[in-house]
Amino acid sequence: MLEPNLVVSETEFWEAAVSTAEQRFHKLCDEAEAMSIQGYLQDGTVVYWNRASEMIYGYSAQEAIGRNLLDLIIPPAAWAAVQHDMAQMFETGKGIPAARLTLRHKDGHPVSVFSSHTVVALPGHPKVMFCMDADMSALAQAEEELRIAATAFESQQGMLITDAHDRILRVNSAFTQATGYRAEELLGQSPRILHSGHQEAVFFDQMWHTLRAQGSWQGELSHRRQSGEVYTDWATINAVRNPLGDVTHYVYALTDITQRKQVEAQLTQLAFYDALTHLPNRRLLHDRLHQAIAARQRHRHCAALLFVDVDDFKGLNDTLGHEMGDLLLQQLADRLQRHVRDSDTVARFGGDKFVVMLDDLSDDLAVAAADAERTAHKLLSVVGEPYSLREQHYRSEVSIGITLFQASDCTVDELIRQAEMAMYAAKAAGRNKLRFFDVRMQSEVSHRVALINSLREGLKHAELRLFCQPQVSHTGQLIGAEALVRWAHPERGMVSPAEFIPIAESSGLILPLGIWVMAEACRQLVAWTEQLGTSDFTLAVNVSAAQFAQPDFVEQVRVVLNDTGTDPRRLKLELTESMLVNGVDDVIAKMESLRQLGVGFSLDDFGTGYSSLSYLQRLPLNQLKIDQSFVAGLQRDRSSEVIVQTIIALGQSLGLTVIAEGVETESQRDMLTRLGCEAFQGYLIGRPMPMVDFEARFLRRPDAVMS
Ligand code: C2E
Ligand code: CA
Ligand code: CA
Repeated sequence: MLEPNLVVSETEFWEAAVSTAEQRFHKLCDEAEAMSIQGYLQDGTVVYWNRASEMIYGYSAQEAIGRNLLDLIIPPAAWAAVQHDMAQMFETGKGIPAARLTLRHKDGHPVSVFSSHTVVALPGHPKVMFCMDADMSALAQAEEELRIAATAFESQQGMLITDAHDRILRVNSAFTQATGYRAEELLGQSPRILHSGHQEAVFFDQMWHTLRAQGSWQGELSHRRQSGEVYTDWATINAVRNPLGDVTHYVYALTDITQRKQVEAQLTQLAFYDALTHLPNRRLLHDRLHQAIAARQRHRHCAALLFVDVDDFKGLNDTLGHEMGDLLLQQLADRLQRHVRDSDTVARFGGDKFVVMLDDLSDDLAVAAADAERTAHKLLSVVGEPYSLREQHYRSEVSIGITLFQASDCTVDELIRQAEMAMYAAKAAGRNKLRFFDVRMQSEVSHRVALINSLREGLKHAELRLFCQPQVSHTGQLIGAEALVRWAHPERGMVSPAEFIPIAESSGLILPLGIWVMAEACRQLVAWTEQLGTSDFTLAVNVSAAQFAQPDFVEQVRVVLNDTGTDPRRLKLELTESMLVNGVDDVIAKMESLRQLGVGFSLDDFGTGYSSLSYLQRLPLNQLKIDQSFVAGLQRDRSSEVIVQTIIALGQSLGLTVIAEGVETESQRDMLTRLGCEAFQGYLIGRPMPMVDFEARFLRRPDAVMS
């Protein structure tokens, strides 16, 4: 600290004071951080260069001092301007106003500074211009980023920014143009106002789930313009988080892809569909066939290929012209399409040839063949109806070749060839015909068709008979009977139900047949009422799965019971496990309703189905019927005995009676009795017989059953 001192002269004192101030000033200038200070002579020679200048411009004081300002930090483009400004400053002694300048670092990169200037003139000394530059690089960079962001935001893509609460904060002009809304109409709203309503709530739930979990989401959004028009955006949504990790904004980038999708759809249409009929073309047919063949690995369902060829199409073209030919093909294609199921494929194979693929037929080849045949017949008949081509009536027919496939080892080409060959065979047989590729299949189908027709006739002409087979308790007491249908065929005699029931099932004839059996059984029960007295006699009626599956099955039974005046407790329905494929809940509901009427249930052929305890417990059953195959196996193998034992134990635990069917010998009956079986049915007790015989043999002499 300098203080006036009496020992020191005034001059000495002032000299010392100036020197101190100068030192302070130098130190201050030298050490001022972030404030670059340089001093220049009029010709630009550097005379002062503080530490901050070293930092900002990259030259050390040593390097800088003595060199020229222009060579050091002024970009050549600004040389003339700087020279002009400096000349002015040195002349007037005043600095030019402070301003933002872009200067140059030693390594060439631009340096943004806020620069002010002072000219210092001391007597006896050359004028020095001091520049004081504050580093503005960070600010410049932020500004640059903003400029980039702003340019990016105003891109071709629609951009939308919301806050964390789903309120729109900003939209760009591409977005307002695309949607037809003005920005003011959107700000503060939720992007939901743009939704078309074509996407479900679950879709958006998923979107938000992903967005929250991963911070971004991409996908298609269906939007609605202000005009009401619906379009599709490809959307990328990104969450913006603050340093604490909380989402502050969502940024949507949206590109209208409606046109692209339309083009894609058109391309697909061109590549896979026929332009004239809009049906799948050969290529798509190949694809679907491949898939259908591959699917045979997973299940055993049959599929059929129908090769359809228009009879004498050339004749039509020649007489009426190609345009009419095209019209016919269009209408014909339409008819084919309308008369198969949605899951089937109708394809235009080329020219006047079409291929129909029927998927998911029965796993029984014969039944599948019958189904394919029925469909083919229907197609023959709808295609054969008159066409109206430009007011002209025209008739056309087709020939159909059919092949079936069940295994996954056949090839697409092989199948098409088979169906095509069969089609030529159909043509050869005269037109408007269908033929199977496989001769055996052909005869099988013919046989079935004949049988179905004659069974239909038989039903009409009262050729069915109801037989009756007795059921007894282990004490030999008659407890009931099973009603078994027979077909008294005029030429073939008694036909076994084993032969015609499956056909009745596949043709739908089982429904009228089942009703007839039920009504006949009830009429018989009523007729026997007096002779039956108060005993627990029941008549069991077999019910097919298809019959039971009818929505009004319960009502049908109720009507039969009412109309005949039957005591429902005397009727027992024999069901099989196959009915469960139609849904256990539906089965249970129907059984419950019937049980409330008093009707009982026996589970037929038990042990051969896909028995599962879990559903068995839920079914309101009265009885389990041990399948005859186990009874027959009793003396042959040990496993049958184990199964019988298990069924009996199961019945006991569920509180059900157990009856064995197919009991042919005394030893079978004894063994069953020993295992705990309570009731028997079989040739040992009595064969199925006409009702009158049953009545004469069992009801008149109820005690003498075990003769
Ligand atoms: P199911 O219900 O298992 O009937 C028992 C079959 O075993 C009957 O054959 C019967 O004649 C035969 N059977 C009885 N006792 C013995 C025996 O001791 N030994 C041998 N080997 N066989 C015996 P059926 O009458 O030919 O009936 C065959 C199948 O046809 C029945 O099997 C049943 O599934 C079906 N069915 C018969 N009638 C009807 C009906 O009215 N409606 C329906 N949906 N199906 C019926
Ligand atoms: Ca039965
Ligand atoms: Ca049975």
